Amino acid sequence: MLAVVLSACSRGTPSQAPTPVSARAPSTRVATVRETRARGGEDALAIGSRPEYLAPRDESIRDDDLDALWHRQLMVPVEGMLRTSLRDDFVAKRDGKIHGALDLLATRFTPVLAADDCVIGRLSSGPIGGIIIYASDLSARFVYYYAHLQRYRTGLAVGDTIAKGTVIGYVGTTGNAPPDTPHLHFQIMKRGTGRAWWDGPAIDPLPFFVFDGVRQ
Ligand SMILES: [Zn+2]
Repeated sequence: MLAVVLSACSRGTPSQAPTPVSARAPSTRVATVRETRARGGEDALAIGSRPEYLAPRDESIRDDDLDALWHRQLMVPVEGMLRTSLRDDFVAKRDGKIHGALDLLATRFTPVLAADDCVIGRLSSGPIGGIIIYASDLSARFVYYYAHLQRYRTGLAVGDTIAKGTVIGYVGTTGNAPPDTPHLHFQIMKRGTGRAWWDGPAIDPLPFFVFDGVRQ
């Protein structure tokens, strides 16, 4: 039922056949964002080695890209949402292609949190994604895409530098989201080259979440 409800969903994706879903990040206790920052940022020892990545990937996404993304220590981008509650619908079929993203179901107006430290790169609105945010990580290697927002956080602007766990908007149903199923469509892309920076190949976010959704 849910798959049908959410069949109209968001943007271009790689077109490989589905494969088994990736392992998720271990749910052992990790340092908080604050503790990690106090230790100087990246802390590979605290999070262990990267879970195996089994989802389809574009040939331009290399293992060192995935390693770099793992070290970003991403947060589930919906307030109150636990890593253990996530369902991997990255490979779900959407209009003949794979989804290439996760749909995170939450009550309308639940705060959407920045999954990583980032710079807001593009804010726009359209009939598919609705009210959307594209943000780059601070090394401009990855792009985070948030769609179907009810609205942005007041004052959010292109060029803003945002800390992981900060509210950037609110869950909603804009664009082609079913009106009775508020959710955040969250996608990670490797930054595009030879095409728009915000239109790169998708990476399954699920194995890369280290933090539950806790507002910072
Ligand atoms: Zn979606």
